[in-house]
Amino acid sequence: MNYYLAELHAHTRHSDGDFTTPELLTQARAFGYDILAITDHNTMAPVQEVAATETSELLVLSGMEWTTFFGHLLVIGANRVVDWRKATIETIDASLVEIKEAQGIVGIAHPFSIGSPICTGCHWDYHVNDYNLVDFIEVWNRLNPDEDYRSQLAYEMWVDLLNQGYRISCSAGRDWHREEALQDNTALTYIGATEKTSEAILASLREGNYYISLGPEMRVNLQQNDQVYYMGQELLPGPARLEITVQATMQEKLKSFNFFPTTIVLWQNNQIIHCEEISLENVFRLPVVLENGYIRVEIFGLGKGSSEKRLIIGNPFYVSE
Ligand SMILES: [Zn+2]
Ligand SMILES: [Zn+2]
Repeated sequence: MNYYLAELHAHTRHSDGDFTTPELLTQARAFGYDILAITDHNTMAPVQEVAATETSELLVLSGMEWTTFFGHLLVIGANRVVDWRKATIETIDASLVEIKEAQGIVGIAHPFSIGSPICTGCHWDYHVNDYNLVDFIEVWNRLNPDEDYRSQLAYEMWVDLLNQGYRISCSAGRDWHREEALQDNTALTYIGATEKTSEAILASLREGNYYISLGPEMRVNLQQNDQVYYMGQELLPGPARLEITVQATMQEKLKSFNFFPTTIVLWQNNQIIHCEEISLENVFRLPVVLENGYIRVEIFGLGKGSSEKRLIIGNPFYVSE
């Protein structure tokens, strides 16, 4: 299993970004991304410009940000544009079904951004009846997501859905529009896959085999009955073994923020079942007893004067008979 650095939320001049498509690709390569989803507002046009310039070092995924009066939706990997104009607050599920039929992966972007009159439609107001139709919630959005109260609200929305039994992931989106100031940090998404192909990466996004981070990296798996499981996969209730390795930030631009991992926190169904200091680079192993529901990892540590900063959020492993 490799973990690839991805950005799932980026704009070009086809909507309100400052970069042309080739400029965005150049910026993405310079930053060190392995994967980039271009998600312009209500258009998939940039993808047509990519085919000619695409190189094997950067895998570009087609995407679009549904931009409506009642919320923004990230749609990744769809084979066509699904009409966003029909969706109403009460009928969003029908539109989500249509996106799924077009093979799209669906995430709610920045659900707690301030809406009208500051940014009409930026706040999530749709009434989703079946959250099985939503693949992820963008928990970290834009600049300095660790300092933004809206990140905490989005995190709570995500956890609440998990506790209701939905299988749903959390994502980070740079919501990249232009060059950012050096003093502003943005979050990273690491996607686990055995190879960097559209097929494999989209499958991992669907499954939930990814984590978000302010910089540090991790590898995590659960082992049960001689089998290895990754985030998003399903295990049986009963004994298992968690294996995790945490590394310092490798991404150049984010190294200067000195986010330093110190502590692993293990959640099972909204309860912290383990909390322990860890050292970098060492494989940390822990026996766990799985219960129906989910289990997931967070890494806390030092950063920006805090000693308890949430640095990594791993997506859940699911547990079912
Ligand atoms: Zn948006
Ligand atoms: Zn956006």
